[in-house]
Amino acid sequence: MILILKSNATDEQIEHVLERVEAMGLQHHLSRGTYRTIVGIIGDEEQLREEPLRAIPGVAKVVPVLPPYKLASRDAHPEPSVVDVSGVKIGGGYLGMIAGPCSVEDRDRMFRIAEAVCESGANLFRGGAYKPRTSPYSFQGLGEEGLKLLREVGDKFGLPIVTEVTDPRLVETVAQHADMLQVGARNMQNFALLTEVGRSDRPVLLKRGMSATVNDLLMCAEYILSQGNSQVVLCERGIKGFDSATRNLFDVAAVPLVHSLSHLPIIVDPSHATGRPDLIPSCALAGLAAGADGVHVEVHDCPEVAKSDGQQALLPSQYDELMSQMRQLAQALGKEISPLPEKQF
Ligand code: PEP
Ligand code: MN
Repeated sequence: MILILKSNATDEQIEHVLERVEAMGLQHHLSRGTYRTIVGIIGDEEQLREEPLRAIPGVAKVVPVLPPYKLASRDAHPEPSVVDVSGVKIGGGYLGMIAGPCSVEDRDRMFRIAEAVCESGANLFRGGAYKPRTSPYSFQGLGEEGLKLLREVGDKFGLPIVTEVTDPRLVETVAQHADMLQVGARNMQNFALLTEVGRSDRPVLLKRGMSATVNDLLMCAEYILSQGNSQVVLCERGIKGFDSATRNLFDVAAVPLVHSLSHLPIIVDPSHATGRPDLIPSCALAGLAAGADGVHVEVHDCPEVAKSDGQQALLPSQYDELMSQMRQLAQALGKEISPLPEKQF
């Protein structure tokens, strides 16, 4: 930790700062420059984070040396992490291709969509059984019935299942049926939920909150990691912007930024980021080109009757076209779309 003192800090104040550091049982290193005096504190930064150092008279700025997310940081783990979702790898050169409808809907439709995206090369199937909706009057999902249906579909096609969990009390139930637990943008900072998924043995897909910084996202990942669950994949799904032409603002720079700060894989979700089927393919490819470890796309065979997010769904034929472009790009980037695990009969 480095303390930058005010330019008008008095000798008494400087002396007091050094005394405070010593009182914490830590060593200091004083450096008097022409314009500013700097105090380097040597010792456990975690312990120091809890101290109100900025409140000491004469201190202008407190500059941490290490990031506050210890377990999620690259310093802690220089190699990229590879997350294993029931045999499908994400990260470290392996791409996770998640596709499926926004909500779990009727049975025949689910089988139809899953068959189509599986044929196109998706390696994970998604669908929300619990939907966090802006309006309490909108469709809230099929609940446990939806989870059972997802499991059936996953087993039929050998596709691991990703689905959202919206409440800490539901983690156990969702984990019984799903291969990966999704924490949605609206729940990114639901710390009780993060703690509970952190205690689960299922991998977690943590979506960036719509008003969250990259630092916030990594701190939320830290909650999960701190509970012992190391299988975390991050997801850039767009943040609030001022232009209503797109649903959100696709922050593609977050992908290489996260990779420079953290060992955790990060995928992109151009469906929620743009809200527009015409923009999804370009943004999916841009995400991969920026280094994303996978792509999450909503697909529906009849978007006009979808129970949620129909306006942004790709048709199976459009997804097929996008998958063939993503395959070519993956090859050019030297990455592999993770193969499906051997089907267990
Ligand atoms: C979803 O994946 O359908 C969803 C609700 O996503 P987000 O949390 O990113 O809005
Ligand atoms: Mn959706």
